[in-house]
Amino acid sequence: MAETKYIFVTGGVVSSLGKGIISSSIGKLLQARGYNITIQKFDPYINIDPGTLNPYEHGECYVTVDGMETDLDLGHYERFTGIKTTKANSMTTGRIYKSVIDKERRGDYLGKTIQVVPHITDEIKRNIKLLGQKYHYDFVITEIGGTIGDIESAPFLEAIRQMKWELGRRAINLHLTYIPYLKAAGELKTKPTQHSVKELQSVGIQPDILVLRTEKHLEDDIRKKVAAFCNVDFDCVVQSEDLPSIYDVPVNMLNQGLDAAILRKCGEKVGPKPALGPWRDFLDRQRKATKEVHIGLVGKYDLQDAYKSIREGLLQAGVYNDHKTVITFINSEDLTEANVGEKLQGQDGIVICPGFGQRGIEGKIVAAHYTRTHNIPTFGICLGMQMMVIEFARNVLGYKDANSREMDGKTAHNVIDIMEEQKNITNMGGTMRLGAYECVLRQGSRVFDIYRQEHIQERHRHRYEFNNDYEKEFEKNGMMCVGRNPESDLVEIVEIPGLKWYIGTQFHPEYQSTVLHPHPLFLDFVKTSIENQKNK
Ligand code: GLN
Repeated sequence: MAETKYIFVTGGVVSSLGKGIISSSIGKLLQARGYNITIQKFDPYINIDPGTLNPYEHGECYVTVDGMETDLDLGHYERFTGIKTTKANSMTTGRIYKSVIDKERRGDYLGKTIQVVPHITDEIKRNIKLLGQKYHYDFVITEIGGTIGDIESAPFLEAIRQMKWELGRRAINLHLTYIPYLKAAGELKTKPTQHSVKELQSVGIQPDILVLRTEKHLEDDIRKKVAAFCNVDFDCVVQSEDLPSIYDVPVNMLNQGLDAAILRKCGEKVGPKPALGPWRDFLDRQRKATKEVHIGLVGKYDLQDAYKSIREGLLQAGVYNDHKTVITFINSEDLTEANVGEKLQGQDGIVICPGFGQRGIEGKIVAAHYTRTHNIPTFGICLGMQMMVIEFARNVLGYKDANSREMDGKTAHNVIDIMEEQKNITNMGGTMRLGAYECVLRQGSRVFDIYRQEHIQERHRHRYEFNNDYEKEFEKNGMMCVGRNPESDLVEIVEIPGLKWYIGTQFHPEYQSTVLHPHPLFLDFVKTSIENQKNK
């Protein structure tokens, strides 16, 4: 087997250029050429993982099958490539330092002075190489969070410099930059890119490939100029124009030969272009899907990225139902019994979003009440499912004080309770019930019908659970507990069979929905929402 090759993706000029999408696209293209690949993210912040971060800080927290709370870019990696990521695919400065400090305390360094270079940089390199060696990948794509010039990213850049020096053609740097268009001058400007590349060169890294983000098409003269000023081959300067969908990016990169340029730079033979058949079929279907389905997201974070995987899951499910999913965010803090009808008006289906803490939960309960009593397709995810359960307990079972122990420590009707193993936890980071667990579906239920199998695996991120003491009462009154964990007996899914679609899952199905394998629950929920348009 050939030795692993390393592609380092860095970004310059400004943040939010879409390094995650470019990394995912490269992964997709190399995979389509038959290479065994993985994508890893290094985040320069001090948090051990993003699990404790407020979504306003850093968007959604994505969870891997093995229970790591990670950056949302890992969601892109999985949605594009279909490959499951693990703990080893996500690293932060905090984890690197912790590991070095733990080693120092153990005495592993034999009395040496511990320094950023070489100890921190060695630990970074070790984590990058470990991934390649352990799973025999042909390519490890490592995306470095942040922007070149940030103080925090310096040790990562030094690690890249060293790896390039040690591995020669087996390590390359792809730098993503921005070409702004100045309207007043009517010109596209290359200077910020030149400066950003200079910054890389000043720490000893010569980029091998440049991807130029731009809102306007770049003619060859601009690419030539960038190539000449930045010491990069002309065919290694590609542009990434704004496209209608992020899923168009791999095809655009293929058309410009980005994958071929990478292979040439690494000294690999460049075979025929991959066909990307199923991927193109998806894009075709997406383009043709003009009829709209309207889904309301009831949540508390008014930020696109906060519910990223749910949005993508809904979008993918729309395409496979030949519809364009139009998502409207509905702030649960603004919902009251008096305005809920008006606020949810026009929506064909409602998702009640995950979350933590008190803020906005009463609005979620109001939404669950309205959609249940008006028979609007409703999908409750994690906290959303818990709010469906509380609403049912309050308004059907008649327990007006029903609540979750998370919100009310004293209620006599704790229909959502803290999980046994969570009771004595004081450390908040990485201690929830995390990752993939098995769930057994009840034969004859709606979810069994949707999944068409009895045993499923889904990913979790929670501390609270359905209180089994109430199960019989719920079932007698029409809310069924149709999915449970075979070992812990935790209720994982509730549904109300008589309604069009009223399903709550304790797990997060959105983490498993990919472009080529959309999630069955999202597919069925969107399908039912479309059917709901007819008889609204
Ligand atoms: N706060 C709830 C719990 O911890 C729900 C978590 C979530 O929505 N991810 O159980």
